[in-house]
Amino acid sequence: MRRNNLVLVLRLAHVQGRVSRADVTRLTGLNRSTVGGLVAELVELGLVVEQEPGAAHHAGRPSPVIVPRKDIVAIAVNPEIDAVTIGLVSLSGQVLKRIRYDTARVQTPEEVVNIVTAVVAGMRGELDSSFRTVGVGVALPGLVRDGDGEVVVAPHLGWHNVPFSAMLGDALGLPVVSSNDASAGIVAESTFGAGRGARDHIYLNGGASGIGGGIVIRGLQFPGASGFAGEFGHSLVNSAGVLCYCGAYGCLETEVRQSALLDAVGLEAANSEQLENVLTTQFARPGGPDREVLEVVNRQVDFLADSLRGTVNIFNPELVILGGFLGTLYVVATERLESAVRGKTLQGTRDDVRFARAELGLDLMMIGAAQLAFAPVLADPASIASALGQAS
Ligand SMILES: [Zn+2]
Repeated sequence: MRRNNLVLVLRLAHVQGRVSRADVTRLTGLNRSTVGGLVAELVELGLVVEQEPGAAHHAGRPSPVIVPRKDIVAIAVNPEIDAVTIGLVSLSGQVLKRIRYDTARVQTPEEVVNIVTAVVAGMRGELDSSFRTVGVGVALPGLVRDGDGEVVVAPHLGWHNVPFSAMLGDALGLPVVSSNDASAGIVAESTFGAGRGARDHIYLNGGASGIGGGIVIRGLQFPGASGFAGEFGHSLVNSAGVLCYCGAYGCLETEVRQSALLDAVGLEAANSEQLENVLTTQFARPGGPDREVLEVVNRQVDFLADSLRGTVNIFNPELVILGGFLGTLYVVATERLESAVRGKTLQGTRDDVRFARAELGLDLMMIGAAQLAFAPVLADPASIASALGQAS
């Protein structure tokens, strides 16, 4: 009971970034002295601090504010086909550091372990003097088995049956939790981004290696029988299309590709932010984008709309969140995408659905990966002592 209440209070502070004692009392229904005791315990565990409130917004005595400590951090890792990104993320979901290590070719698991180990070694002095590290979260483009965290297959990385969490854990001497990147992204976006407050939503993320996604039903992520649900990238959009690595023809991710957009705008390799800058600049010009760019964007938006129509009809979501380069397509062609989806979906579902681009941008995978590492502490705040013991 007490543990559950501790979890409630810590989660409120974690998700909201800062929360007043009065709000904790109101939102949890616990009485004031109980909340006081729980906050004191979280302070003692070193997870939160209490601050004097700023200007009082309400009448009466101002209530102290509970804030997660910024020195409790997780290391976030996101291997992709063109880079390995490593970050440092605080308990309240703030990305304190993000280092993108570009790679000329796809890296083996051993090479990724070496890159991460080198980057973390570079941060070690700062980590030891200024932070307390609970562990490492890895978000990667592949299927990761629940339980042991083994990478069953990461097709674009060419990894098969790789015990990546164990390999990286041995190298760093820290606990490591791995998950599919889209799953990690939807948790981050639901908690801290565009999905805040939405109960039923669909999330599609487009990255260098393809399109993944996730489904949130009644506030809970729907994992599927083996944790692999949400592979929207493999829905059929072009029956005359090309062969996908999955064995089918005309999958969404064979038609809607970041590399085709990069080619169209003449960028060799870019992260999603650079691509978005170039495309939004072109679409904002008086004459609009180059014809060739417009054609590629329109073609991709239309295929994306075809896929989303099926998804919206099946799940009747209140919100569809588009992340990565799919968010860029939505930003530059909002009207075209929305009307293409709404124009051909059933009446009930199309009236309810809203669209949004993911809000967390380049921080998405960092926050999502870090959440994996914070999960044990958020599930049992008292476990922080043993988590940090293991880390030192
Ligand atoms: Zn496919």
